[in-house]
Amino acid sequence: MRGGAERAGDEGEGKGGMRYTILMDKKLELEKLETEMAADMALPLREANLVFGEGNMDCEVMFVGEAPGQNEDRLKRPFVGRGGQLLDRMIESIGWKRPDVYITNIVKRRPPENRDPSPDEIAAYRPYLTRQIGIIDPKVVVTLGRFSMNYFLPDAKITRDHGRAFQVDGRLIFPVFHPAAALRATGMMNALKDDFKKLPAIVRGEVVVEVPPAIIVGPAHEPKVSKKQKQEKLF
Ligand code: URA
Repeated sequence: MRGGAERAGDEGEGKGGMRYTILMDKKLELEKLETEMAADMALPLREANLVFGEGNMDCEVMFVGEAPGQNEDRLKRPFVGRGGQLLDRMIESIGWKRPDVYITNIVKRRPPENRDPSPDEIAAYRPYLTRQIGIIDPKVVVTLGRFSMNYFLPDAKITRDHGRAFQVDGRLIFPVFHPAAALRATGMMNALKDDFKKLPAIVRGEVVVEVPPAIIVGPAHEPKVSKKQKQEKLF
């Protein structure tokens, strides 16, 4: 696991010098992206603070949640409430530290009253998350909850597909339950713990990778047509 403790400039010349350049490029590109987002008047939810994301920009594992909540909006940092504390404990349970990874959300401003983000809001923030992932270029994206999972895997079901690694556009997507949901249900908490235990092996490339689930098409899934509609169709 590439650690977050190393900073740009720590490694001197040669190979380290190259790493320094990559890190500086990533830092500048992320700053540029954040500035662009802040200036984009077309983005929805502009009355809330921008919570861009934080962590190790040279990470192997990036966590993507849904949208900031009240605490995140106040502190302009992702996952700092009770769900965030659970996420920190999960990360530490596998011997990693929060600064080793990068944490962000699909929608980067808080929806009022913590409501679910709308499809339009998700679509509006999509180009920015795509670029953010491209710059950081992690090996694995861990999706936290259903919204984030369906962003990458539109046909996946969280109860069926959590804890499985999927290859999407050359990157591994690993869906897990949202920490806030795990705080409300023991079953989800246990599943979240078990799924986290798989992460180090996934990073090492030791886990079976699957193709994304697709919509099942067949008679059982075709829209129901009444006898009358069928007759009308004949004429
Ligand atoms: N829930 C999320 O999905 N993201 C956060 O940053 C906090 C809570």
